[in-house]
Amino acid sequence: MSAAPIPIQDPPSASHSAKPNPYLVAQEQLDRASKIAGISPEVRAILSQPKNELIINFPVRMDNGEYRMFKGYRVQHSNILGPYKGGIRYHEQVSLDEVKALAAWMTYKGALHDIPFGGGKGGIKFMPRNHSQAELERITRRFTHALGSNIGPEYDIPAPDVGTNGQIMVWMMDTYMNLQGATDKNANRRVVTGKTITAGGSYGRETATGQGIVHCITEWARDRRFELNGSTFTVQGFGNVGSHASKILARTGATMIATGDYKGYIFNGDGINPFKLSEYVAKTGSVHGYPGAKAISRADFFAVQADIFIPAALELEIGVPEAKALNVKLIVEGANGPTETAAEPILHEKGIDLIPDILANSGGVVVSYYEWLQNKRSERWDLEEVEERLAKRMKRTFLAVTEYAAQKKCDWRMAAMGIALDRINKAYAERGIFP
Ligand code: NAD
Repeated sequence: MSAAPIPIQDPPSASHSAKPNPYLVAQEQLDRASKIAGISPEVRAILSQPKNELIINFPVRMDNGEYRMFKGYRVQHSNILGPYKGGIRYHEQVSLDEVKALAAWMTYKGALHDIPFGGGKGGIKFMPRNHSQAELERITRRFTHALGSNIGPEYDIPAPDVGTNGQIMVWMMDTYMNLQGATDKNANRRVVTGKTITAGGSYGRETATGQGIVHCITEWARDRRFELNGSTFTVQGFGNVGSHASKILARTGATMIATGDYKGYIFNGDGINPFKLSEYVAKTGSVHGYPGAKAISRADFFAVQADIFIPAALELEIGVPEAKALNVKLIVEGANGPTETAAEPILHEKGIDLIPDILANSGGVVVSYYEWLQNKRSERWDLEEVEERLAKRMKRTFLAVTEYAAQKKCDWRMAAMGIALDRINKAYAERGIFP
């Protein structure tokens, strides 16, 4: 290895600084919801900061023999209701404040569903698509090794998020298991969820977030007496969440007419087949250039008239101009934190319903919990059982949110957060604040 300084991987992206700070958005939501739910000032103060923030700089050898430095994060927001739980993101925009916001939203998501998990999130600041599988494996294993006992099956349980998948989770699991004594190895399988089936993953986990989104949409449609068959929808981001939500929603008779990803946006008023588009994306890595649709600009994408819009890319993509342009009846937040604070009143004034992230995309953490339980009990549930349990829980929570909103006369985001904060507040009231 040469004595020259090891270059930092992927410097900060210029576009990110234009967006508001996601942590401030999460803070503002906490402040508003705390007032509605009547949360004690102490609990609000505790939740306004994560418990632990870990930053790890680590070197990894690239395929060409050179070493590069990577910056990884793990933020543990709250474990008052159970072990820290939340995804690992690989993306060039990953920052401490982004991970802090995402970790807080995980706390509220678990509490909303009454799942015995707290909230955490992590990530590495780099673009995975610029690396070979061998490099991705070394980056993942080196990061997991550096995390060491800062994760654990009863302490902090990672899962996939943007830029990560079942394979990455399996490398994390395997690295962690190999750090344990031989007799304890198998007791540690549940240190991560979202694994491949062979490695101990759950049936239905890969599609769970998309499936949960569609449960929210069908409940909304029932509530609003809206006919999904013959309706139209648009999706921003065609990765794990966006593609599965599109395919599952298509089964109701709804038609996707526009979508887009990091490379650009596409439109076809007669419909885009999400199954064929998924095959195309699997080959090319993007929706860009898909022959069954025409390219449109980002601005035109947000102005497309449709019944439902599913943001399923990154946070804070719906700013004021996008809120003004949107011409839909319902927004279902597949992504975490896709809506800026200033954009929300505009959407409400326009009469657009909004199903908030901590409810809409919670199918993933719900089935992660089922995976964790199956591993803990050495069980394997079949797909029907997982889907039945998920459907029941999503419907129950959706109803609870709409009832809370009606009772407190607030919007669904504040209602979902209010339910979550009530549970956390109660736990602190019963246990007290140590010492
Ligand atoms: P993914 O990496 O599989 O897909 C992300 C998609 O967003 C890709 O199509 C990518 O090209 C697109 N994208 C990236 N930057 C973009 C940009 N600037 N403009 C438009 N599109 C862009 O990630 P995912 O797992 O599908 O996650 C998407 C969102 O859903 C994230 O906010 C994530 O936190 C949230 N989420 C994921 C899960 C899960 O189970 N994977 C669970 C809950 C919430």
